[in-house]
Amino acid sequence: TTELARAESLIATIPDFPEAGIQFRDITPLFADGPALRAVVDAVTRPFAGSFDVVAGVEARGFLLAGAIANAAGVGLIPIRKAGKLPRPAASITYDLEYGTDKLEAAQDLPAGTRVLLVDDILATGGTLRAGQQLLEQLGYTLAGTAVLMELVDLDGQQVAGPVHTLFEV
Ligand code: IMP
Repeated sequence: TTELARAESLIATIPDFPEAGIQFRDITPLFADGPALRAVVDAVTRPFAGSFDVVAGVEARGFLLAGAIANAAGVGLIPIRKAGKLPRPAASITYDLEYGTDKLEAAQDLPAGTRVLLVDDILATGGTLRAGQQLLEQLGYTLAGTAVLMELVDLDGQQVAGPVHTLFEV
């Protein structure tokens, strides 16, 4: 739709952030625009309508998308957090970054078999979403699907975390 095309046009490209040579995709202008946010929330969840009980988002920008989706769909949400933030982590997973490792944690607030839609803002190498999928599996949840707003296609994250439903490709 034209509203989705307009939403995509609001994503800014910032050269050399956080380091030289990296083209950072900044989605905050899209989030700041009410109709654009509503359009991407509709489009990112449409293939999964009726097939998820709860939405999970990865800290921190994934939380924003998950919150908007949860409210629109009338479901709850699961925050997947960076290590050390949750008082009662029930599952944790360490995953590789370009330099070093990182760790994600989640609580167990819902029964095994709960159908979870996993979301984040951007699919790059896929390492973060793959870790999120494995974390949900540790908790006994069923993955209803994985979705992002934007995919950096050259990094081939679909090979690692696919299939991932994406709205925009660069
Ligand atoms: P991956 O694990 O390499 O797929 O990286 C994905 C994670 O890094 C996500 O949580 C994204 O929010 C973040 N990320 C990677 N590239 C960008 C970018 O260009 N803009 C904003 N976030 C990014």
